Amino acid sequence: MKVYNTLTRKKEDFITITPGKVKMYVCGPTVYNFFHIGNARTFVVFDTIRRYLEYRGYKVDFIQNFTDIDDKMIKRANEDDITVKQLGDRFINEYYKDADNLNIERATKNPRATEYMNEIIEFVETLVEKGYAYEVDGDVYFHTKSFKEYGKLSGQNLEELQLGARIDVDNRKKDPMDFAIWKSQKPGEPAWESPWGMGRPGWHIECSCMAYNLLGETIDIHAGGIDLTFPHHENEIAQSEARTGKAFANYWLHSAFVNVNNQKMSKSLNNFFTAREILEKYDADVLRLFMLSGHYRTQINFSMELLDSTKSALDRIRNSINNLESLLEEVKTEKIEENEKEYVKELDKYKEKYIEKMDDDFNTADAISVIFDLVKDVNINININSSKEIIEYILELIRELGSPLGILQKYEKGSLEEEIQKLIDQRQKARKEKDWALADKIRDELKEQGIVLEDTPQGVRWKKI
Ligand code: AMP
Ligand code: ZN
Repeated sequence: MKVYNTLTRKKEDFITITPGKVKMYVCGPTVYNFFHIGNARTFVVFDTIRRYLEYRGYKVDFIQNFTDIDDKMIKRANEDDITVKQLGDRFINEYYKDADNLNIERATKNPRATEYMNEIIEFVETLVEKGYAYEVDGDVYFHTKSFKEYGKLSGQNLEELQLGARIDVDNRKKDPMDFAIWKSQKPGEPAWESPWGMGRPGWHIECSCMAYNLLGETIDIHAGGIDLTFPHHENEIAQSEARTGKAFANYWLHSAFVNVNNQKMSKSLNNFFTAREILEKYDADVLRLFMLSGHYRTQINFSMELLDSTKSALDRIRNSINNLESLLEEVKTEKIEENEKEYVKELDKYKEKYIEKMDDDFNTADAISVIFDLVKDVNINININSSKEIIEYILELIRELGSPLGILQKYEKGSLEEEIQKLIDQRQKARKEKDWALADKIRDELKEQGIVLEDTPQGVRWKKI
């Protein structure tokens, strides 16, 4: 398996510290709001990578943190007139609702920064003792110059980084690039007792600390969105490697942005859609297929039109599954026939191809094309004369290839019915509002899926033709 490593800027063979096991840490959300489609891509991408590693037989220890104390948390809690803890509780809860609906597997653990205060303080203390960090008026800074390899992840040295960075001039710091790992309390802010007085941790230290405590000194994969490369991950490396003298992570993986009109989707630009509002209109498979249709290191553009075309594409697979399931009831032969055995070999080639693509730095874009090719092939070659056994084999195969992508799993008759009912309800609403164009559009969409509607005195009925 090959993995692109941001640290070396190369695709490398994937070799884990312990054979068969992966220690993986992904930077999670700051829990002050609902997450948007941009954040969702990061979560979906690394969930898919984790699922694929598991599919390939690894046992994955998957840690994704919740940042539940920082400036944004404090500001929002003040606005809502609640405590930072209450805000964190609320949005962690909302995170799980959306992540579950996006079919994101639960992490092995989701540690909260505020639950690791003792460990964070101990981490900061160790860095001070070792001479990598210093205290000024209750703040503790990491001295970037003391860590010789600072800048190795970004591929730039300190001077180059300094030119590109927005630096707040603070004369108390030994060097403008030094960053806070402990911040003294400001009036009205939540704070914890520490050897430097009341205060709270900087953002970067929490990830170094939780990775260290939950996974150990060196981990296999550290991941996050591309914007975290600098300064967040650069600073994590400095802190962790300064403490242990060992490599922090062997592979650094970064996922690209979701854009809207070629601009990064972000809360500050107000060009975002929350995952929740999109999930009201599209199911998780559509959203995941959309996100995974591009390689995780390439940017994708978001628009409703693109989601619609993803939905049509997904329907092609779903229709095919549906047809296969109907055929199961109708075919006359149980056991696989001699002449079908060759065809099974053909089908297995799709699986080999899929694995080849995914083994190449998780190329979900090409892996998805393989699934479409498989479905096309099956549509042509499977019919009423096929055996039940081969149809079951194919259904199993489609689901198997969908599973690392987290799609095509819950697709059962029940959920199809629910989806059709949802569309019918939307059409009824459109008719009530005299939006005939929308009502017709929904009817046509259903017709494309082979569903016809009948108006009866008891309401709208549907049947499959
Ligand atoms: P935040 O809650 O802002 O700390 O972000 C959580 C995660 O989402 C981080 O890994 C970010 O890199 C990622 N992220 C934020 N905006 C986008 C975007 N537009 N596209 C992809 N990932 C994003
Ligand atoms: Zn982090």
